[in-house]
Amino acid sequence: MLSAYHAFAEILSSLQPNLRILVTGGAGFIGSHLVDKLMENEKNEVIVVDNYFTGSKDNLKKWIGHPRFELIRHDVTEKLLVEVDQIFHLACPASPIFYKYNPVKTIKTNVIGTLNMLGLAKRVGARILLTSTSEVYGDPLEHPQKEEYWGNVNPIGVRSCYDEGKRVAETLMFDYHRQHGIEIRIARIFNTYGPRMNIDDGRVVSNFIAQAIRGEPLTVQSPGTQTRSFCYVSDMVDGLIRLMEGEHTGPINIGNPGEFTMMELAEAVKELIDPAVPVKIVENTPDDPRQRKPNITKAKELLGWEPKITLREGLPLMEDDFRQRLGVPKKHIN
Ligand code: NAD
Ligand code: UDP
Ligand code: UDP
Repeated sequence: MLSAYHAFAEILSSLQPNLRILVTGGAGFIGSHLVDKLMENEKNEVIVVDNYFTGSKDNLKKWIGHPRFELIRHDVTEKLLVEVDQIFHLACPASPIFYKYNPVKTIKTNVIGTLNMLGLAKRVGARILLTSTSEVYGDPLEHPQKEEYWGNVNPIGVRSCYDEGKRVAETLMFDYHRQHGIEIRIARIFNTYGPRMNIDDGRVVSNFIAQAIRGEPLTVQSPGTQTRSFCYVSDMVDGLIRLMEGEHTGPINIGNPGEFTMMELAEAVKELIDPAVPVKIVENTPDDPRQRKPNITKAKELLGWEPKITLREGLPLMEDDFRQRLGVPKKHIN
């Protein structure tokens, strides 16, 4: 009886058409982990478009040549013609040093890039998910941040190309939804870390881990009491897929509510990798948010999602990946 049921289920599944999924920015850190997860499902065909500004083909090397996978060098600020059912729109540099490097390009990517992906979604009837950011809350006056909070953002500061860019991208998503009936999903991603981050990415977790492995001082930007809440990348990917597949437009915060000061993070990395490395206080950059922690009630209630991996579990996984790439094996004390 059971085997007849399984046979029937198999026939039913073989009748379901494949889902063609576009991932913009799929050669980047989160994008490439998302692609790995999507490719696990044999019903998915995945197309990645990326201009390799901060991403790399190397992150996708195991899929190149796979019959259900396609990689296109393309800049999302240009028109794109493909036929797809879903769009995960991630393309945008996420590290402050990279998004500040060419701020005009960053805002074009957020505004024109998102407009183009919405135009594409409209033409082909695809559902589109935008990876927005906790940066839309700016230097928040409400803590923890829930989705209803409108934020405290400097419109003319050095971070504005990114945070105001993402705010306009969210506006475009809702206007296309209201005006053209496009099916939208918005994730507000909080600081995410894990294997495959660029070693010279400039973000705090990758900086501290690389510095500790190299035996260099950990550069804590002053005052060191500012907080962030760090989400491991596999939890993030799980949340993004649930949001895409669920019924809610969002915006929904996806992040890990475990909150740490940068000094606490430095101590945790020292303890894990090398208690002998010193901490060096260095100058901070303008408009650095003083605190950040997601309220994830919506994600829990609407998506049945919450993070599983704590910072202390995730850091060693990242250490292993960084040691391999830096060619510095762990010393075993007998
Ligand atoms: P990443 O820099 O590793 O990846 C971004 C990818 O987009 C790269 O592969 C890059 O080459 C590509 N890209 C940039 N501009 C492009 C353009 N104009 N056309 C085509 N491709 C372009 O960053 P990530 O950490 O993987 O972030 C992915 C997304 O998640 C971004 O939208 C980012 O804003 C969002 N996000 C990330 C975090 C985080 O902590 N990692 C936090 C909040 C939001
Ligand atoms: N667009 C795209 N691929 C498509 C359809 C549209 O890249 O398959 C871009 C197109 O370049 C346009 C933008 O999406 O600038 C917005 O498209 P829409 O149809 O909403 O507006 P319009 O073309 O009328 O400006
Ligand atoms: N930071 C730090 N040392 C570094 C890099 C960053 O102390 O080497 C701090 C930075 O001042 C900020 C926090 O870490 O308060 C997170 O910075 P990151 O660039 O990782 O991401 P953000 O959340 O600012 O986008």
